Amino acid sequence: MKLSDLGEFGFIDRIARKYPTKNPSILKGIGDDSAVISLSEGLIVLLSTDQLIEGFHFNLEITDGWKLGWKSLAVNLSDIAAMGGVPIGFCLSLGIPSQRISIEFLDDFYKGITSLGERTGVELLGGDTSEGGERLTISVSVLGKASQGKVIYRQGGKDGDNLYVTGYLGDAALGLKLLKKGVYKKGMENIINRHLCPEPRTRTGQLLAERGIPNAMIDISDGLLADLNHLVNQSGVGAEVNLCLLPLSTEFRAWAAVYEPNPINLALRGGEDYELLFSASPEKSEEVDRLSKELSYPITYIGKLSRKIKGIVVKDEKGKIKEVQPLGFDHFRDG
Ligand code: ADP
Ligand code: MG
Repeated sequence: MKLSDLGEFGFIDRIARKYPTKNPSILKGIGDDSAVISLSEGLIVLLSTDQLIEGFHFNLEITDGWKLGWKSLAVNLSDIAAMGGVPIGFCLSLGIPSQRISIEFLDDFYKGITSLGERTGVELLGGDTSEGGERLTISVSVLGKASQGKVIYRQGGKDGDNLYVTGYLGDAALGLKLLKKGVYKKGMENIINRHLCPEPRTRTGQLLAERGIPNAMIDISDGLLADLNHLVNQSGVGAEVNLCLLPLSTEFRAWAAVYEPNPINLALRGGEDYELLFSASPEKSEEVDRLSKELSYPITYIGKLSRKIKGIVVKDEKGKIKEVQPLGFDHFRDG
């Protein structure tokens, strides 16, 4: 059997089925943004890992050491945020092509990763160092904590829940497209930085969980539809997304009008926004609006969960309902 037939998620499902966890303290192993372990009464430990590989996740022609360091931690913190957790520290393992990568580059990398660490109260705990051969490889594991009963899983979505997304969609994918095209114009900085050094929604995730707002939550790393697909599958409901409600930033609208023939497709399927997608019962809508005002950035209602819907459907600007294939990035099919 070829990995491309199975796909990235087929492969992960296969591993999860073969090796289910046995220890009752492990509340969640494979299958969510972080593993969830109950260590002692009231205390939950969260553990998550993500790697970045040169040529697949980043290209040194379009980023620098500082930004790459920042992003390496950001993508991991996003997974702790998606559980509503508080990150504590991280381990960093590097496979370094020593003939090509300089000490100055690595110094910048550590400055970037620890800058985000300081900002979020997360410290470097250790790691591992090896010769990397052809590609620079970066692997970060992050440890977090949460209170018992406050962890938000992908699987808690309920029939009739409202669906919300934090911040804006599609910026990171458009930023990558502009970088790849080699176009750089004044006014593109925000869009480009959304790809190069994304902002994890650490505080937002914590506040949502503390206030008991979401029933289910996931971060958007592979694209809205792909990650919503995980949430609906695990929650046993379907979803309707209203395309007119997708939050698109002013810069996205302006630059997409010039460089992207299908901006809605980018907002639906473009990855790496690292925003949070959550469902909450309609009674929580005022609390969501209040939190959005407190944080001074949008948390936008984009649709509903429903057990009458199978999979994901979208409502277009004419009110027409269409089924969609929730395809996002798959390493073995698109890599
Ligand atoms: P995310 O996009 O949130 O980082 P992934 O899609 O990478 O999540 O992973 C989904 C789940 O599968 C997570 O629980 C992750 O820990 C697990 N997982 C991914 N790859 C492997 C692997 N090679 N072996 C075991 N578990 C894995
Ligand atoms: Mg995730």
